[in-house]
Amino acid sequence: MDEKIISKEDLMKICRDVIDKGHTLLAPGTAEYVSVSDVSVIRLDPSALPSKSSFKTYAFPKTEPVLYYKRGKNDVQLIDVNIDGKNTVIIGAKPCDANSLNIMRHLFNWDYSDEFFNLREKHFIIIGLMCSHYDEYCFCTSVGSSPVSEKGSDIFLIPVDENNFAMRIVTEKGKEFIEPYAEYLKSGDETRTKQVTEKVKLPEVAFDNKEVYEWLGENFESPKWEGIGNICLSCAQCAFVCPVCHCFDIVDEDYSYTEGRRMKNWDGCQFGNFTLHASGHNPRDIQSKRYRQRVNHKFRYYVDKFGEILCTGCGRCSRGCPVSIDIKEIVANCKD
Ligand code: SF4
Ligand code: SF4
Repeated sequence: MDEKIISKEDLMKICRDVIDKGHTLLAPGTAEYVSVSDVSVIRLDPSALPSKSSFKTYAFPKTEPVLYYKRGKNDVQLIDVNIDGKNTVIIGAKPCDANSLNIMRHLFNWDYSDEFFNLREKHFIIIGLMCSHYDEYCFCTSVGSSPVSEKGSDIFLIPVDENNFAMRIVTEKGKEFIEPYAEYLKSGDETRTKQVTEKVKLPEVAFDNKEVYEWLGENFESPKWEGIGNICLSCAQCAFVCPVCHCFDIVDEDYSYTEGRRMKNWDGCQFGNFTLHASGHNPRDIQSKRYRQRVNHKFRYYVDKFGEILCTGCGRCSRGCPVSIDIKEIVANCKD
């Protein structure tokens, strides 16, 4: 791995250049990742908690047309949409967000290759930032990550003093991105950087994910699910703020008798209608079954299918849950 030193000032020059070139520059705000046109709003604060939502919507929008259609007397004409593959640089991504696209990529390239996700992802450069603070909801260390993990980042920043960052160039994509800015990079000092990362306090490991996997396989009918189902409101905010939840629905919207568009919209497995069949039958007709699905999907089914946990441990779902359901607590205490 290649490590350099860059000053905050020079990093902002790179950000300004990204904007001047007409690329999209995203940075985390308190509520969400925002598109930046003025670099003075960028806060590279390693002590900030994750924003309320991740940057998922920029790779997998909340709603988007996948095709347009026109009905003739005897046929239907399908019209492709132009997919937006704009160069997008994300500066200051939390480690728990940076790895989200790697996790979702499996799903979007499984039985069908989703051109929309793939094209956008291909044009992303993720500049991750070390995390120096966690709260009671964070549990990245329980799902194989950490506040200093470079997983998913193309370039990773570690603040080494007030004005400088160690810059780790993690991927080929990151290398290609930073090459034109070589004049801003000084030789790195890996020993000094290590001293910084070793001082970072890690969230305590809350559970053994292999034990959770086993427990889920043996406790499909556990009464625990009913207890959670009695509290959960089925609002699905947990899915919408999650950096890796990816359920969507396809809906045809007619403009008129002859024209319309086919939309892909975010959906959530906690909604009562999510599994409602056209026949009226609903295999997950009560909330306990839906919450059970959420936990099994994240900690067992996705592991079976893709060898990866469908959770980055960001804690967003718990931080924002209106009835204080805490997925870390549920998983950590499943055996009790
Ligand atoms: S767990 Fe919380 S956020 Fe998720 S659906 Fe239930 S009430 Fe809503
Ligand atoms: S399930 Fe919760 S903690 Fe895990 S990635 Fe999604 S929002 Fe974060």
